[in-house]
Amino acid sequence: NADAAMYHAKSAGRNNFQFFDAKMNEAAVERLGIEHALRLALGRDEFRLHFQPIINLRTGKVSCVEALIRWQHPERGLLAPGMFIGVAEETGLIQPIGDWVIWAACRQLAAFREAGLTGVKMAINISAIQMRNSDLSVLARGVIEAYSLPPGDLVFEITESVAMEHPDETVRVLDLLRDMGVSLALDDFGTGYSSLSYLRMFALDKLKLDRSFVEEIGQDVDGQVICDATIGLAHNLGLTLVAEGVETEAQLDYLRARGCDLVQGYLFSKPLPAEQVMDFIRQRNA
Ligand code: C2E
Ligand code: MG
Ligand code: MG
Ligand code: MG
Repeated sequence: NADAAMYHAKSAGRNNFQFFDAKMNEAAVERLGIEHALRLALGRDEFRLHFQPIINLRTGKVSCVEALIRWQHPERGLLAPGMFIGVAEETGLIQPIGDWVIWAACRQLAAFREAGLTGVKMAINISAIQMRNSDLSVLARGVIEAYSLPPGDLVFEITESVAMEHPDETVRVLDLLRDMGVSLALDDFGTGYSSLSYLRMFALDKLKLDRSFVEEIGQDVDGQVICDATIGLAHNLGLTLVAEGVETEAQLDYLRARGCDLVQGYLFSKPLPAEQVMDFIRQRNA
């Protein structure tokens, strides 16, 4: 895109070139601004975790919650990860932010257990940069020990695109985590390009079918075909299938009839602050 802009600008003459140049400079300055603000946010403890319940369709109970980061910005309010995770990844800040997420999510899992809410797992999103760092397994071991957690109650979610872009590293890091007993999920499945032979080599427990396919249930036959095929693929590989973004009863009925194992979506609950998700679990799992 930037190249196309350059090309247009150059062919249109010197003034336009300066115009586009200034525009690009603006974007760089804005990025620097976000980077600086993210650094401050870490120091000021402005990140928060919300937790979205994941329901077991067989029992109706909450089997897991997914930790999702938010930024409590002093002026702009609560910001969703889409607003800042990209810059955090580009600048390497995802490393300390990601470490914070792992500690905070595990501290919360320990609090669940102390409150008597056992048998609920904690899913944590792990970015590409964290995956490429073998310290991830060292960190995981330290946090598990610090909070005396059953390792299998932790689920690390990595995206399909990351796994497939760096398959050898992914195999290595997943093996380390699997040896420790941590559960592993492949997130946003169906949006990237998956090699089925790698899928078999990854030490996975779960596939998370991307929301974009669940959305198409009852609307688009091709989308439904992908849902059906993914459920079959997961089960044939011995994996648990999680459907993301379930918003309607019709989608739920369809997924249930096809043997989907776990569901997550606004139909059950949006991501909630810790106290509220604990109430949700108490009601649902009573
Ligand atoms: P994800 O891991 O695929 O998380 C699911 C996203 O779908 C969440 O958005 C969730 O709020 C949203 N969602 C769940 N159910 C529904 C539904 O029924 N309808 C709709 N429209 N949306 C639904 P959120 O919290 O904005 O997070 C977006 C993405 O940001 C996540 O996608 C994940 O890739 C990334 N992310 C979030 N927290 C972290 C984190 O701590 N670390 C890293 N590296 N990435 C994170
Ligand atoms: Mg996720
Ligand atoms: Mg996902
Ligand atoms: Mg997704």
